[in-house]
Amino acid sequence: MSVFAEKNFRNHEQVLFHQDQASGLFAIIAIHSTALGPALGGCRYWSYDDETAALDDVLRLSRGMTYKAALAGLAFGGGKAVIIAPKNEEQRPALFTAFGHFVNSLGGRYITAEDVGTSPADMEIVHGATPFVAGIADGGAGDGDPSPATAWGVFHGLRAAAGAGLGRDGLRGVHVSLQGLGHVGSYLAQHLADAGARLTVADLDQSRLAWARDSLGAEVVGVDAIYDVAADIFAPNAMGAILNDQTISRLRVRAVAGSANNQLAEDRHGAALAERGILYAPDYVINAGGIINISHEGRAYDRDAALAHCARIHDTLAGIFRRAELESRPTNEVADQLAEEQIADRAAAQAQDRLRTAVG
Ligand code: NAD
Repeated sequence: MSVFAEKNFRNHEQVLFHQDQASGLFAIIAIHSTALGPALGGCRYWSYDDETAALDDVLRLSRGMTYKAALAGLAFGGGKAVIIAPKNEEQRPALFTAFGHFVNSLGGRYITAEDVGTSPADMEIVHGATPFVAGIADGGAGDGDPSPATAWGVFHGLRAAAGAGLGRDGLRGVHVSLQGLGHVGSYLAQHLADAGARLTVADLDQSRLAWARDSLGAEVVGVDAIYDVAADIFAPNAMGAILNDQTISRLRVRAVAGSANNQLAEDRHGAALAERGILYAPDYVINAGGIINISHEGRAYDRDAALAHCARIHDTLAGIFRRAELESRPTNEVADQLAEEQIADRAAAQAQDRLRTAVG
């Protein structure tokens, strides 16, 4: 396996592989950038087919975190961790303790958090071995689950998509097709229903579908049929890579705006959406509410201020949509470029500050 030549390596600062024999831990931490601050990103626990799949996943996700933090205006860099799920689940507490020691050995260059396959309970165990964990419910000062904040940011992102893609001021009467009603999707569906949107939903979980149908008046379709729904906006809130050669030609919407990470199977699918006149809200911009919330954690946590910060995702996206239109470029390319500009500008300003402090 080659690491530097991996297609997603893309200028990572550091990639660390760790094994702990006693607990059976096999984990990778990828630090994409610490230019703006410590690398922040969740820990994914997953049954990967092989090491290459785990490496590919962690590299893709950590770069996204760098861009996400930069465009949210946060003093964090980007990183991510993966734990290759072992056959023996009984080892779970020992595994997460060992993972905590791994994180701790980096002295704060990487801060971990919950992600797919990890729970607040797992992060409490990690916290026993390292202080470098975010998203811990610490007696009211933080707020634990990032999903409500993520959903609030996505909701405001949908408002921006409705403005730029449909010429609509607000979501009343806008038809949104939702894939996934999990932690984020369910809060999002509730906000959309409250705002007067019409919903069509798909999920694997029948109880969530029943809730959306009975409580929100949503129409239910099968998990494959969601791609064919004629709606205004498609909101993916389940898996990644759902915008690909097979699905894009099926979409009958004018915008895609949802919480899922890595929605584009490949970067070129951003252009494919633009060619079909579908406005794409870049995933790491619209789903930044969780880490925005984390950036507010601490003793002085103020939930209203955190949620107001999440709502500013509307303005960030509106700016990206405007620039993409002016320059006739796909929105994902514009977002990547803006993030890189932000990182370069802010890193240069920080270096100036350090120099001034050193000489003055
Ligand atoms: P979750 O696991 O709670 O919810 C996912 C939902 O999708 C579940 O209800 C599941 O049944 C459903 N689902 C799975 N496969 C499906 C399919 N084929 N078709 C339809 N539904 C399907 O996850 P979550 O925390 O709500 O996160 C959703 C997405 O948003 C993920 O991609 C995650 O990486 C991303 N994200 C989440 C957060 C957060 O704060 N939780 C932050 C940023 C990004």
